Amino acid sequence: MFLTIGTTGTPERPATDLGFLLHKHPDKAQAFSTSHGSAHVFYPEASAERCTAALLLEVDPVALVRRGKGKGRGGAPDAALAQYVNDRPYAASSLLSVAIAAVFKSALGGVCRAMPERAENPLPLRIEVPALPARGGAELVRKLFTPLGWERVEATAVPLDEQFPAWGDSRYVQLVLEGEMRLADALRQLYILLPVLDDAKHYWVAPDEVDKLLRAGEGWLAEHPERPLITRRYLSHRWGLTRQADQALELVRLAESDDLDVGSVDNAVDESTDTEEKPVPLAEHRRTAILDALRAAGASRVLDLGCGQGQLVQALLKDVRFTEIVGVDVSMRALTIASRRLKLDRMGERQAGRVTLRQGSLTYTDKALTGYDAAVLSEVIEHLDLPRLPALEYAVFGAARPGTVVVTTPNVEYNVRWETLPAGHVRHGDHRFEWTRGEFREWAEQVAARHGYTVRYVPVGEDDPEVGPPTQMAVFSRSADAAPGAGSAGRKTHDAENRTTEKTGKKEAEAA
Ligand code: SAH
Repeated sequence: MFLTIGTTGTPERPATDLGFLLHKHPDKAQAFSTSHGSAHVFYPEASAERCTAALLLEVDPVALVRRGKGKGRGGAPDAALAQYVNDRPYAASSLLSVAIAAVFKSALGGVCRAMPERAENPLPLRIEVPALPARGGAELVRKLFTPLGWERVEATAVPLDEQFPAWGDSRYVQLVLEGEMRLADALRQLYILLPVLDDAKHYWVAPDEVDKLLRAGEGWLAEHPERPLITRRYLSHRWGLTRQADQALELVRLAESDDLDVGSVDNAVDESTDTEEKPVPLAEHRRTAILDALRAAGASRVLDLGCGQGQLVQALLKDVRFTEIVGVDVSMRALTIASRRLKLDRMGERQAGRVTLRQGSLTYTDKALTGYDAAVLSEVIEHLDLPRLPALEYAVFGAARPGTVVVTTPNVEYNVRWETLPAGHVRHGDHRFEWTRGEFREWAEQVAARHGYTVRYVPVGEDDPEVGPPTQMAVFSRSADAAPGAGSAGRKTHDAENRTTEKTGKKEAEAA
């Protein structure tokens, strides 16, 4: 069983860095014993320009039979012989997967202390597996790898016997993948997809396989168009486990997507919608509304607070009037995805000079966020526990005090129009609350009053006459005479509860 991983480089960024990323020195050939034989890692080539690591797994068929159930291959009547004489030694399968996990454990986890930045970023990779058993053929191989972003996915059928072309093709393909990919992502994909293509496992699939699937599938599996086939085959068609995995992945998908599927909303709202026309996703309506509000305010230096995976930052970059764009998020993972989406590492200097991504929590004040024209909180407030909201309010309206603040949040009244949403459910697993239009306005009025802002409201998405729009947006403008620091209007209020909220918020926000 054989697999090669190659990359190219330059004198400044030598290809041999691959050795650091794989935690295997290019000058050494190393052997590891695994439960089914021995794995060897060596480098057929290692120069600054090109470096290729090879993983060779020598399977011990006797150990395989002794250790396990010899599952998967060769049923009766010649099962006994098939346990010894089979394709195991040659064909990349779940055994190779297990070897990848054992030999490249740190790389699979994306860990590289020597070169964290190299491990975090995509490399030009070339992966080759000369004999890959593919149930579903070359077609399925392409369906599995193409959506993952590989530029070249080549699956060539291997003939049964080159001497006898008339015998046709074997069920093996030679796989070549090429593209810019993070090494850890590439290894995780192989770890799952090799046994999926083989559609057999050499060991009994226990419930902990669900965790392994979710871990290795992080960041790519939830949204994969072939997800049902992948989970079903990876979990050896064990229905209970497959269902568990699917439910977990569905939650992940919801969390990663901007909102619910807007197609179902359009169907619910307007039966006569022209189905030929692709509906504009709600997230896009939202970005348009936000950009309009920022332009109307004449903003050029903008904070995107809770920027998530950077879709709005990307849209802001397209308009040159936004000269300085800062995306802030508490999630490092979201920021990493944002940075990849924006291709920050490959951006020209001028363009890159306009954008900064920083990690930070919005419930703490941060001096670096003062002095901006505008701040956006798009679909963020509902991710905070209500008691933490005053802290965010103070950090943004009390301390950072941008001229304009745009806040969007779901309108819970609209949820009855989402056909796929069970009654009483929030739209997203991580929403701590969802407000009616009345509740949002009440909060916004108080915030504006406390901090010296005026506020107007803009519906986003179709404004339903009965339940309002799916997204509600408030645009706050700092009043010209508002004192910096605390809102002048806020101090004038006689509402005891308001004052308490402001004080608590301030204390919490500054407790960083
Ligand atoms: N603004 C984006 C993402 C919304 S999802 C959009 O409109 O698509 C909410 C985001 O808020 C997540 O990325 C989450 O990591 C971030 N977030 C939640 N609580 C936060 C906090 N306390 N500080 C900073 N970011 C936070």
